[in-house]
Amino acid sequence: MNFIQTRGCDENKPTTVTFSQAILSPIASFGGLYVPEVLPNLGLEFLNKHLNSSYKDLALDMLNRFEIDIDQDVIKEALNLYDNFDDSSNPVPVVKVKENLYVSELYHGPTRAFKDMALQPFGVVLSSVAQKRNENYLILAATSGDTGPAALETFKNRANVQVACLYPYGGTSDVQRLQMVTEDAANLKVIGIRGVFDDAQNALKRLLASDEFKTSLKKKHVSLSAANSVNFGRIIFQIIYHIHSYLELVRQNAIKMDEKVYLNVPSGNFGNALGAYYAWKMGLGVEKIIISSNENNVLTKLIKTGKYDLRDLEVVGTTSPAMDILKSSNVERILYDMFGSKRTKELMDDLEEKNIYELSEDELETLQKCFDADFCLGDEGKKYIKDTFIKNSYLMDPHTATCFKSYETCSNPAIKTIAYSTAEWTKFSPVIANALTGEVDINDIEALESIAKEANLKIPAMVKGLFSKKITQNTIIDKEDIEKEILNFL
Ligand SMILES: *Cc1c(COP(=O)(O)O)cnc(C)c1O
Repeated sequence: MNFIQTRGCDENKPTTVTFSQAILSPIASFGGLYVPEVLPNLGLEFLNKHLNSSYKDLALDMLNRFEIDIDQDVIKEALNLYDNFDDSSNPVPVVKVKENLYVSELYHGPTRAFKDMALQPFGVVLSSVAQKRNENYLILAATSGDTGPAALETFKNRANVQVACLYPYGGTSDVQRLQMVTEDAANLKVIGIRGVFDDAQNALKRLLASDEFKTSLKKKHVSLSAANSVNFGRIIFQIIYHIHSYLELVRQNAIKMDEKVYLNVPSGNFGNALGAYYAWKMGLGVEKIIISSNENNVLTKLIKTGKYDLRDLEVVGTTSPAMDILKSSNVERILYDMFGSKRTKELMDDLEEKNIYELSEDELETLQKCFDADFCLGDEGKKYIKDTFIKNSYLMDPHTATCFKSYETCSNPAIKTIAYSTAEWTKFSPVIANALTGEVDINDIEALESIAKEANLKIPAMVKGLFSKKITQNTIIDKEDIEKEILNFL
């Protein structure tokens, strides 16, 4: 299958590319993205066939329907990484939390957040493509805390790939920082920036667009790529778990095959939600996709009013920092799917030039047929964390908690909901400890111990071990020095 471009073709790039090309250079004509030319239609037959399949068998068959230019043994090797999740026979447990509300837990991988779902297999795929082409790639990553650890973990010691990972020094949790700065491999460089996440993100965008930087890399026989969530190589692995979660509900006798459910997704850059949308279009029984946000609620406004309005907006820091995003990149792929490339380019140009785009009434109606949305403030989220722990004996993180609000405000209670849990309690422990016991100003290790005691849970060894692991990545610099630092590393 080939991939085409969301904003049409500018003649400098080919009209269609292969999957390999789309993952190596994910930015398309006019700054657009790559999307599959057609989505495979799986239908009921596929769902019935895989009712009792393992996660990996389901995944393999689904990936094969995309007919991507990756060898079978590479795909299999990539999927084998799900064996390292907590329960290799079921990497994504789906838990009933209360009547009609099921939580699909996407955080049972090595870095305890849902980024592992896609980045674990993606690392194998990208490295194998680079080896096959006999090329070396520098992967640039900017992280607010979850992507960095997952990207480092997946590319660690992989051939033909080096990673430079930028994070805001002081802007992540202790666990997130330790996950990065204790990674010890010659092909990894972790760089703390004196600044906020946006400084790291802007530096990354500047380097990705800089011809001078690319020329310097070429002298070292290195090409540039990015592992951010617009890469279709990540999106493709995020379709699978939506299908799996649906089949889990059928297996648990919660729904009949083909019954409609809500998929409720805590959203930032919209990769997770896009995977849900594609799964729906490929044949899953879905009533609506509910988009859950925090105080940074541009997506709620888009879905309620048809306006994507960034004028006079600034990102605010919240208790669910992985969703502190204003430019939610993957929404563009929805626009393309619904309204075509000409209109997508128009809308995205408006956003770039005027900081706002506005859908027509008809377009808004089309969008609202598929999506509804609400946002949850930090204090509301903490209340959901505490109440759900007390009433339903279920402990969740602040990102997951945003779904509990929209579950109440957006869904018909007679229809079952699958809400997605994107991080383990260990990753955002100070917020959770505060929600449960009211403790303030405690650090991660104190919070972890407090929650473990309160909820009678064990701190996973891979998290506890971080606090005594040797710190190997000590670089902390000003943002002006990023380019020099990366070239030195290479
Ligand atoms: C990345 C992330 C999200 C947002 O996912 P998107 O695919 O970017 O919408 C939500 N929660 C957590 C914990 C994350 O790490």
